[in-house]
Amino acid sequence: MANDKPPYRESRGPFGGIVTFTFDEGRMSTYEVAYPIMKQWGYRGLVFVLTDFVGRVWQGIAGSVQLMGWNELKQLEEDGWEVGSHTASHGNLVAMSYAEIEKELVSSKAILEAHGHKITAVSYPGGGVDARVIEIAGRDYHMGRAAISSTTRWDPFCNCQVEDIFQIDSISLSEKVFTEERLAEYLSAVVDTGAWAVFLIHDVVNRVSEGADQLSTANFEKLLGMVRDRGLRVMTMAEVYHEFHWSMGGGSKPLEDAHGYYNRVLRYRLGYIVLLALRFRLLTKLGRKLTVGTRIGRAILSNISR
Ligand SMILES: [Zn+2]
Repeated sequence: MANDKPPYRESRGPFGGIVTFTFDEGRMSTYEVAYPIMKQWGYRGLVFVLTDFVGRVWQGIAGSVQLMGWNELKQLEEDGWEVGSHTASHGNLVAMSYAEIEKELVSSKAILEAHGHKITAVSYPGGGVDARVIEIAGRDYHMGRAAISSTTRWDPFCNCQVEDIFQIDSISLSEKVFTEERLAEYLSAVVDTGAWAVFLIHDVVNRVSEGADQLSTANFEKLLGMVRDRGLRVMTMAEVYHEFHWSMGGGSKPLEDAHGYYNRVLRYRLGYIVLLALRFRLLTKLGRKLTVGTRIGRAILSNISR
């Protein structure tokens, strides 16, 4: 454990190897356990807040959970953490009407902003997202984080290039799926592909209760160590978002242009494919010319030698 800055490592991919730690609900354990550990390592995370339950007890799937109050959230943001919305009620957005989704996304952002927080991203409860959710989120937010099953898909190429910044993949990490070997492999792939890895952690606790979606402090620190050893940068989602514009030559573009940015990425990609195709054609042509040239040369040589 150390306070020194992680060494930055150059890699080929678009993000150069980034890790983002996100924590859902705004649980007290994020403030009391995860935050001080990350601070010791010089890292900052992102907390997605359930605005109906700030400072209250929330009945989660695995039992009742004490959530942070506005003071804790303020402290986190002042210390460089990002605050995002996890909607107002934690209802399944996909099962809601258009108006209900709108209410969840718009009201939660408004409440957070009324408390002075700068909001860039939303995370969908249970990862539930569809075209309507993306459309509504696209109006009020700049990014949306989904959740993929922690056991079914660990794709080292996930978010290597963001397909849709309103469906950013995340890996849900708990004691149940934590193995050092698997994580080491995954993080090395993130370095090699220059990807952006987003982790979703619900609870970091000293002692894990059976069946709960928790990660032990020991394994959390192990993970931070692995991230640092590989020279991966730890950033919040808003930080990644800002750097996107810059690295794509967009300068200090206004944040409102999220979809414009995505279209530009698509154009870059199309341009690259066309370039590859042209290069291939040119090489084939050149190859043909060389073959013809060699044939003529051989013919001349054989005539001279005669
Ligand atoms: Zn949640």
